[in-house]
Amino acid sequence: MKAKVITIANHKGGVGKTTSAASVGCGLALKGKRVLLVDLDAQQNLSFTLTREEDPEASIYDALVKDEPLPIVKVTENVDLVPSSLELARAEIDMATKIAREGILRSLLEEYADSYDFIIIDCPPSLGIVTTNALVASDKLYIPLTAEALPLKGLTMLDDVVREVRKRVNPNLELGAVFFTRYNNRKLNKEVVTMIENRYGDKVFKTKIRENIALAEMPLSGKSIFEYDRRSNGAKDYMALVEEILERECK
Ligand code: ADP
Ligand code: MG
Repeated sequence: MKAKVITIANHKGGVGKTTSAASVGCGLALKGKRVLLVDLDAQQNLSFTLTREEDPEASIYDALVKDEPLPIVKVTENVDLVPSSLELARAEIDMATKIAREGILRSLLEEYADSYDFIIIDCPPSLGIVTTNALVASDKLYIPLTAEALPLKGLTMLDDVVREVRKRVNPNLELGAVFFTRYNNRKLNKEVVTMIENRYGDKVFKTKIRENIALAEMPLSGKSIFEYDRRSNGAKDYMALVEEILERECK
């Protein structure tokens, strides 16, 4: 079976992209799926969370910019990672003159389509060439949102990029899911959820990831949330999200 490629993107920072990539990836692996996680953020949060390594021998930058092979490191039994590096901050400039620059990641990943069940891409907080590469390589876009402020205006920008990618390069790209992270039960949260549900309908996942201290501590532990504290609300919520993903993507 061909890997399903999912990009987790939102150009707003701090909405839970990286926490979700790590937790969904490790959760799918616990369900027996083979998972490749791709770190496209120069901040390396995903790479560091999974490997404790700040200075990888080779990174996604070398593959995107220097035409080197995709570097893949093993994290656990069912989880592999393509690490990021600080240099990736320069990729927007370095890729600007490349021919067919939006399709570089897609052609790098094509070779691995049969080796994994899921390829999950964690994006930087921007909508430049790097994020566009992720969208061009993907079947699905998942958008994590926090519900504390009105996110609708920012989402319109993301919708525009998706529309353009679909029209010009990758007609297969679909909005797969919108889901809430760092959720608590305040009134404002509920109002935002209602607005988002009105706009995105059944694309909004039922599972909400609650604000949970174990999720904030997890990156420093070097473990997935399921190993760090499997009884935490964070572990419970992400496992529920994984089950919802499996229900929708593997039917
Ligand atoms: P992004 O990748 O979108 O910038 P992160 O996943 O890095 O967002 O999350 C931003 C910060 O919030 C991190 O410090 C992370 O540990 C913390 N965090 C993420 N999700 C939760 C949550 N559900 N509860 C508490 N803290 C969270
Ligand atoms: Mg991040």
